[in-house]
Amino acid sequence: MYIGSPDNSAHSKYDPYSEVSTKVNNAIKYGASGVIFTRINNTEKDPSGQLSVTIRPTAIPVLFVHDTTVISAIHAKIFSKVATLENTAHNVIGFKNNKKKTTIIIGAHQDHLGYNELGGSRTKEEGKIHNGADDNASGVAVMMELMRKLSKGKYKKHNYLFIAFSGEEEGLLGSNYYVKHPLIPNDKIACMLNFDMLGRLDSTKKKLMVYGVGTSPVWKPAIETISTDSFNIKIRTTESGTGSSDHTSFYYQNIPDLHFFTGQHKDYHLPSDDEALINYTGMWYSYDYIYKLIGKINKVKTIPFTPTKNNESEFVSYKVTLGIMPDYIYDGSGLRVDGVNKDRPGDKAGLKTGDIIIKLGDFPVSSVQEYMKALSEYNKGDKTTITITRGTQTMILPATFE
Ligand SMILES: [Zn+2]
Repeated sequence: MYIGSPDNSAHSKYDPYSEVSTKVNNAIKYGASGVIFTRINNTEKDPSGQLSVTIRPTAIPVLFVHDTTVISAIHAKIFSKVATLENTAHNVIGFKNNKKKTTIIIGAHQDHLGYNELGGSRTKEEGKIHNGADDNASGVAVMMELMRKLSKGKYKKHNYLFIAFSGEEEGLLGSNYYVKHPLIPNDKIACMLNFDMLGRLDSTKKKLMVYGVGTSPVWKPAIETISTDSFNIKIRTTESGTGSSDHTSFYYQNIPDLHFFTGQHKDYHLPSDDEALINYTGMWYSYDYIYKLIGKINKVKTIPFTPTKNNESEFVSYKVTLGIMPDYIYDGSGLRVDGVNKDRPGDKAGLKTGDIIIKLGDFPVSSVQEYMKALSEYNKGDKTTITITRGTQTMILPATFE
């Protein structure tokens, strides 16, 4: 197989297929038992020696042969062994023993993307550190403040187990390991509270999102009776007990869970998610709110688990996207664009941050869920229109999925 693309110009129609990883995955799909790459001509660069970074672990060997003439000239037997990359990471755990039968788990993941050695970054620039101030130093900091407060505090109906999870960014690995090797039996856990990205409370909208309120009947009444008047924070709730953070691992053990989040932003999974952009006052509001909520559940007898209907979005599969970041905390009608990825169909159509998408083709878009449903109707190469409002204007932008 050739490395690179037959057309190296910007916005080439081959772009979506030219990545090494895409080619390997396609080869696997068509039953390849190995891939040998070479260059189509001498102008192509050799791939970096670190193919393991650009290719997620695959079950087949992938080789690169530098000399293009070798391929046709010789018969060769190639032996290779596929080794799985293994690393050890650690969950860091603290326990406050109030000598009670049940325990509340409070967790926040402490890993992030580092220098993007394992992928996951949204930047193509190499060698940049990803500090992850919001994702998730902010959640860990809130957890630590709760440790301080709860270890000498008045809420003693349960014990508290604090876990800084590792491997979250690689697929909830730390929390998955924990629930399979629990230090306290899972049926003795009253509930799990998870913090992932609490550092970017919008200072005008002041919305704190609480996911998982459907996992127990105690959550809604508790949330409704917490006064947020003094700092005017707004609570936005979602029923589903699962999502893309560590609370999900506990939900599947029938443990009631809540997940707290101050919202998506343009620095998500980029080196620019850094300390200077943290809203410390907002973090304190979030902490204080969560502490009050723990106070409420200190008064309830038990926290029964109820399974939730998962977000519809989890069941919608789509093959194309516009390459935009939806504003998950926007509560008007439509989808507010919170970021536009360069050179993706949305960008090419002229979408800008702040635009509100109200229609995709003939499909009305009143929410993120509806946007995803509409996307699932399209295939690569399809043309459509995006109807938006920008300020007081309504505009119709032609777009092509790729
Ligand atoms: Zn995170």
